[in-house]
Amino acid sequence: MKRQINEMKVVFPSLSENERFARIAVSGFLSFTDPQVDELADIKTAVSEAVTNCIVHGYPDSIGKIELCVKVAQEGRVYIRISDKGCGIEDVKKAMEPLFTTRPEEDRAGLGFAVMETFMDKVKVTSRQGKGTTVVLEKRICSRRENG
Ligand code: ATP
Ligand code: MG
Repeated sequence: MKRQINEMKVVFPSLSENERFARIAVSGFLSFTDPQVDELADIKTAVSEAVTNCIVHGYPDSIGKIELCVKVAQEGRVYIRISDKGCGIEDVKKAMEPLFTTRPEEDRAGLGFAVMETFMDKVKVTSRQGKGTTVVLEKRICSRRENG
C-alpha cells in the first residue's frame, strides 16, 4: 500500500436503502488498499451497524442527513466517521453495553455497538441530546500485496 493519505466524504438521507449504499461506498473506496477480504467484511459489518443506528434511532420519525467520512492514513490505518444530526443518545456508556436497546419491541438485540467493537480496533461515540451522534471506527488493515 502506498504510504499516503486518502480520504472521502459522502452525505446521504437516512433512507433504509442507503445502509447498503454506505457499505458499498466504503468498500469501493477502500479497494485502492487491496484489502484482505475478511478485514473488508468486518469493516462493512461495522459500518452497516452504525448507519442502521442513525436511520433507526437517530431519525426515528423523520429523514435526516447522514455523513460518512473515510480516511486511510499511514500503515493502513482506516478511520471511519459516521454522524447524524438526530435525537442523540442520553447515556452513551449505557447505550454501548451489550444487549442494551431502547427498542426491544422492534426485535432489536442491542448488539450493534458490541458488533462494532468486535470487528474494529477502536470505537468512539460522542453524542448530544437533540444535536446528534458521531461514531468513529478505527481499524488497521493489511494489504494483500504486503502479505505476498
Ligand atoms: P441492534 O443494533 O442489535 O439491532 P440496537 O440498535 O438497539 O439493536 P445498538 O446498536 O447497540 O443496539 O444501540 C444501542 C442503543 O443506542 C439503541 O437502542 C439506541 O437507543 C442508541 N443509539 C445507537 N445509535 C444511535 C443514534 N445514532 N442516535 C440515537 N440513538 C442511538
Ligand atoms: Mg443498532
